[in-house]
Amino acid sequence: MTWRDPDVTVVGGGMAGSEAAWQLAEAGLHVALVEMKPCAMSPAHQSPLLGELVCSNSLRSDDPIAPAGLLKQELRKAGSMVIACADHHRVPAGQALAVERFGFARAITERLALHPNIRIERRRIDDLPSHPVIVATGPLTEGKLGEVIRAELGGDRMYFYDAIAPIVAADSIDFDFAFRASRWGRDADAPDRDGEHDRAAGGDTGVGDYVNCPLTQEQYRAFVDAVNAGRKILPHDFEEPRYFESCMPIEVMAERGPETLRFGPMRPIGLSDPRTGARPWAVVQLRPENRYQTAYNLVGFQTRLAYPEQQKIFQMVPGLHRAEFLRFGSIHRNTYIDAPARLGASFELRSRPNVRFAGLLTGVEGYIESCAMGLVVSWLLVAELTGRAVTPPPATTMMGGLYQHVTAPRERDYKYGPTNVNYGLLPPLAGARKDNRKQRMADRARSDFDAWIRERPEPIRQSV
Ligand SMILES: Cc1cc2nc3c(=O)[nH]c(=O)nc-3n(C[C@H](O)[C@H](O)[C@H](O)COP(=O)(O)OP(=O)(O)OC[C@H]3O[C@@H](n4cnc5c(N)ncnc54)[C@H](O)[C@@H]3O)c2cc1C
Repeated sequence: MTWRDPDVTVVGGGMAGSEAAWQLAEAGLHVALVEMKPCAMSPAHQSPLLGELVCSNSLRSDDPIAPAGLLKQELRKAGSMVIACADHHRVPAGQALAVERFGFARAITERLALHPNIRIERRRIDDLPSHPVIVATGPLTEGKLGEVIRAELGGDRMYFYDAIAPIVAADSIDFDFAFRASRWGRDADAPDRDGEHDRAAGGDTGVGDYVNCPLTQEQYRAFVDAVNAGRKILPHDFEEPRYFESCMPIEVMAERGPETLRFGPMRPIGLSDPRTGARPWAVVQLRPENRYQTAYNLVGFQTRLAYPEQQKIFQMVPGLHRAEFLRFGSIHRNTYIDAPARLGASFELRSRPNVRFAGLLTGVEGYIESCAMGLVVSWLLVAELTGRAVTPPPATTMMGGLYQHVTAPRERDYKYGPTNVNYGLLPPLAGARKDNRKQRMADRARSDFDAWIRERPEPIRQSV
């Protein structure tokens, strides 16, 4: 190795950092990849290998129509090293891409260690360097570096817990039961259970923003009983279940008493069902999740119920009998930053542009999503450092949908939260045709992604 000072330092050799370091090195940049393992270990990491999968060994579906399958296709086309290692170490798992985790992590470690443009440094970073750096320290970033980042963000733009409500596809809501209305016909100033003020607080589009699923007394009772009986996911040892009143899991509320939910997220106050003219006994309120209004979240329904239980129990709600869940609710220890508020279009800190973020810290969720954001941030950085024109991935692709999620400006009072890939991230198809929606969106994504890759300036300088 003939170089001393790196062009870029990548902090963290997980899904995002490993991919980013590889892409930068392949483009001819000299990379210091700084990984704290084995000198220091997070409570979830166990091996000194890079690219360690902290939990499941599945990189999810490989079906080309499934969002995760489509994203992996895009990553393969973009030359993802992490996905190449996964393909090489795949184990039989039906439609899913599951891997033999040690072989997978060993392959990533070896490829990075043998790359002449990469130097792996085993130490913990506690401060932000002044040269170009990509911070990819993941969901358990803490200690001094966590404090430094938090201070840099202005104190209140870093989150340490992730309380996510389920999201359903808009066209799977049954409007024979559900109705559109905002509370008191305005929903202007009442904070939600999850602490957010309604979108209409600015006084623009209040009436009808919300979708309401009304429940009778019997239906409400049956729902609460099902929540109480449903299987819950237990927190990890290092996840102290410390809930804020404003983001209490529904099962904790249900446990407190049969009426608690009805005075919480399921309160019917200020609503009347246009079919009966009466106030329902209880309601589940849904709010648009994306600017395309193709996805709605169940307001205040963060939960630790197991995914199959969520599907079964939430489909008991009138209007949601056939709901298609784009993602399920969850609550877990996590660290992510309010990316739309603090990062620019290349994932750089607006207040300190030499610092970029990648992976789960940016507000994406999952191994492959983190890897994808490692790839995107490194390509944008290569473009900047080498003067090549690289545009972000198109919004119609899964990679572009994630990019938009992280960077698109939000409305006032929007509560930013992590996301997996899902079709709700993509713009709707033009026209009124409703059949084969996913297939057609996947076809559009493939064709737009191929065009984007073709336009990428070549050649990227190979390793030296
Ligand atoms: C307990 C748990 C279970 C999960 N299970 C799943 C799952 O089953 N499926 C799924 O898709 N996603 C899962 N996730 C989310 C998963 O962590 C992310 O999807 C993905 O690993 C994040 O990638 P990343 O590159 O951002 O961070 P990571 O893969 O976590 O990599 C971060 C790396 O940075 C290093 N590091 C941290 N701080 C420093 C520092 N100061 N200096 C130097 N190095 C540092 C760490 O040692 C680590 O190697 C889970 C998360 C947790 C916490």
